[in-house]
Amino acid sequence: MQLNTPDIISFVKSEGIELVGVAPIKPLLTDERYKKNVERICPNAKCVIVFGNIFPQSILDACPENARPARYSLETLYSEGAEICLKISRVLEKNGYRGVIIPAYLPVEMSYQTFGLKGDLNLKLVAAEAGLGSRGRNDLLITPNYGPRVRLFGVITDADLKPTPKNDKDYCTDCRMCIEACPAEALSETGCNPRLCSPYSMKYGLPRILQFISELEKGESTKKIFKKLQGMEMWNFWQALSQGSYYECFMCIQSCPVGKIKFGKA
Ligand code: SF4
Ligand code: SF4
Repeated sequence: MQLNTPDIISFVKSEGIELVGVAPIKPLLTDERYKKNVERICPNAKCVIVFGNIFPQSILDACPENARPARYSLETLYSEGAEICLKISRVLEKNGYRGVIIPAYLPVEMSYQTFGLKGDLNLKLVAAEAGLGSRGRNDLLITPNYGPRVRLFGVITDADLKPTPKNDKDYCTDCRMCIEACPAEALSETGCNPRLCSPYSMKYGLPRILQFISELEKGESTKKIFKKLQGMEMWNFWQALSQGSYYECFMCIQSCPVGKIKFGKA
C-alpha cells in the first residue's frame, strides 16, 4: 500500500505528539559511520520520521536545586517515545515497509572508534532537516514553541515519504543565557565541549565510576577502601545504575527563554 506523509503525521499526532516531521535520508549521512549504520540497519532507506516529546518546563524549573523530578521524568519521556516509535514501525510494516527505531538513549555505540557515546544517527540534525527547529548555542534543537524542552525520536524507513519542508529560521535569539547558566563553562559560540560537560551532566555516570575505581586502587588501607565503598558516592552510583538515568544537569535546557511559559505567582 502507498503510505503518504499526511497519513503518518496524523497517526503520530493521534498519539498525542505535536512536533512531527519527515527528513530525507541524504543530508543526514554526514560521515562514513552514519552511512554504514544506515545501510546495515535499513537497506534502501529513504527518510526518517522524527518527532519531539515535550519535556514540561515546570519539572525542569526545579533545577538546579533539585534535579530529581527531571531525572525521574526523563525515563517516562524516553519510554513514551519508544512506545510511539514501535507503533510507527508496526504501521510501516503493515504497509510493506521497514521501520527501524533509532535509539534515542541507551544503548548507543560505545567503542574505541567513537570514543564515548554515539547514536546511530544525529537526531538533532534529523529534526532540523524535517523543519522542527534550528540548532541553538546550547547545541540543542530549539523549537519555536518549546525551545529546547523536547526529547527527540526517529524511525528510519524505506517508504518513499515526501519530506516536510526544512525551516531556515534561526530560533536561537543568541541571548547567551544557556552559556551563562552552564556550571561547567562547557558552552561557547562554537557549541558544547563534552569533556567539560560530562563531569556535571553525568556526575554519577561511567566516567566518575571509573575514576572512583582508580582512586580505590591507589594503595589505601582496606579500612579506608571499605569506608569509601559505604559512602554517599556509592549510594548515588546505586541510584543512577538502578534507574539507568545519569543526567544530573539540565541547565542548558532550563535556562533557554524560547517558548518559556510565564506561570502565575505562587
Ligand atoms: S548539561 Fe549542564 S554542564 Fe552540560 S552543557 Fe548543559 S548546562 Fe553545561
Ligand atoms: S538560551 Fe539563548 S543563546 Fe542559548 S539556545 Fe536559548 S536562545 Fe539561544
